[in-house]
Amino acid sequence: MSAVSYQLSEVDCEPAILRHWHARAQADWNPKTTRCRFAGIMARTGLIQDNRFQRHATGPGHPERPERLAAIAEALSERRLDEACTAINASPVDMALVRSLHTPAYLDRLESACRTGLAYIDEPDSAICTESFEIARLGAGAVIGAVDAVMACTIDNAFCAVRPPGHHAEHDRSRGFCLLGNVALAAKHLIDHHRLDRILILDWDVHHGNGTQHLFDADPRVLFISLHGHPDFVYPGSGFATERGIGAGEGFTLNIPMLPGTGDAEYHAAFADKVQPEIQRYAPQFVLISAGFDAHRLDPLAPINLESESFGWMTRTMTEIAARHCDGRLVSVLEGGYHLSALAESVSIHIETLLSA
Ligand SMILES: [Zn+2]
Repeated sequence: MSAVSYQLSEVDCEPAILRHWHARAQADWNPKTTRCRFAGIMARTGLIQDNRFQRHATGPGHPERPERLAAIAEALSERRLDEACTAINASPVDMALVRSLHTPAYLDRLESACRTGLAYIDEPDSAICTESFEIARLGAGAVIGAVDAVMACTIDNAFCAVRPPGHHAEHDRSRGFCLLGNVALAAKHLIDHHRLDRILILDWDVHHGNGTQHLFDADPRVLFISLHGHPDFVYPGSGFATERGIGAGEGFTLNIPMLPGTGDAEYHAAFADKVQPEIQRYAPQFVLISAGFDAHRLDPLAPINLESESFGWMTRTMTEIAARHCDGRLVSVLEGGYHLSALAESVSIHIETLLSA
């Protein structure tokens, strides 16, 4: 179901928001008015769920396991959130795009390691199976498909429940469960194909998005903002506040490390004092979220104490930013999150908030 409903009331709107709602309610919009009569319209939220992502097998005891997606699917189905979203099909990413960010040597090594049945690549954390290369291509391609659908205005925003995750993958190697830079590839696609030059990547996974940062740290066309566990205590050991980008990209990386025990209040303060002012200055044309849910207090992999509801207000903040700057264009992509019920509940709240944008 493409869920669009209207509850008429009069509210004042910025012109940018009027244009955004115009795309949803073309027939009812009067271009001469500066007042918008539509409030409470449900967003058309795209959802990518595909059983093929569960075929990336990581072996017994690995936290990044297929059951994560099964838990999400079950929760979305119970709450009928999957029905409220617009299903988007996934297809493999174009290798020319992948080769523009990752080295051909790494891609050859990855493909061959999978084909020959190796258990991992580069480090034991990065477990693979014979199908992992193709599933990784599918995951990255799914995000590109969501971005294209938002750019075509067939949906307003989207959540991509993909695996393997991507934000640790470097240009020439895998790291930390990640094979291809899913969100980074989407940003590159927005630059190359859609000709945008101010893309925001907000990474709230509890681990620093080293791969995404390094792929764009010299490029001002991407503003990378990461909130994560402090690198002195949490993998991967990078993401200090002093890392602000290099060369032409200096000032377009913002790292906000959080000490162990940090919770909702500190995240609120970081959004108010650092994240929102930085984004306001940048005025992004598209918002990408590296949405890990492992900063949850129940997550076994890091010492940060967010609640499931924290992902609701963070999502709301980002949809408001997207509405203000770029007609609501936002695509969110699953990264981490390893406590199954906390993950499922947090993702449900995230999607409910996207739908109410
Ligand atoms: Zn993580």
